[in-house]
Amino acid sequence: MSKKAEIVKIGRRLYSKGLVTGYEGNISERNGDSILITPSGLCKGYLKEDDIIEINILGEKLAGNGVPSSETALHLKVYREREDIQAIVHAHPPTATGFACAGMGLDQSLTAETVLMLGTVPLVPYGTPSTSELPDTLDGFMGYDALLLANHGAMTVGKTLENAYFLMEQVEQYAKISFVANTLGTPKPLPCDEVDKLMALREKFGINTGDPTVCSRDGQVTLYRFSRNELVNLIQEILNEVGG
Ligand SMILES: [Zn+2]
Repeated sequence: MSKKAEIVKIGRRLYSKGLVTGYEGNISERNGDSILITPSGLCKGYLKEDDIIEINILGEKLAGNGVPSSETALHLKVYREREDIQAIVHAHPPTATGFACAGMGLDQSLTAETVLMLGTVPLVPYGTPSTSELPDTLDGFMGYDALLLANHGAMTVGKTLENAYFLMEQVEQYAKISFVANTLGTPKPLPCDEVDKLMALREKFGINTGDPTVCSRDGQVTLYRFSRNELVNLIQEILNEVGG
């Protein structure tokens, strides 16, 4: 299947799963030195291969008829800063976007699957869509493969387009599970020693996005675990202070 055909297929899936509606969302994939990206102003559920636009890393159009996605700058920032990333999906999944509107990231270690695949999905501060403000909000969050964008939606990245798409499905699933668990009462996150075992599996599978942060100890107490990045930054800060 050509890359354009694959983008069309993922667009249909996003739309049929309700992760985007109307003209929402955008999809892109590296194509050698250039990037294939969805056009603005078209429903992602009804794209044709001819609608996909080719741009360079500066965002200049190389081929295609329409206007590249209004969030092109957001995609380009990721491609510039993460060479390991081949594809990006931006959508507005309703439950996950609800968390993003309530000022909440997804950080409770509720199921083995969410701990394994996502760990923590942090909330990125708000930036006006389609302006350079939005890509700037990603500073400090480039180590994550899945992000919630405050009062906006979600973004996932991957080594393949299918990878990035499935992460988006999983972010919405994580949000639904978190919502139900919190609505029913006080959620009981996995015990920290169980999370440690899953962390070992993550390492084995080469998954290193967003380390899990909230687990439980003695059945009741939730404990905040620093993510690896946060811990490294904290130690660095302390060393700087001691050294200074
Ligand atoms: Zn959006």
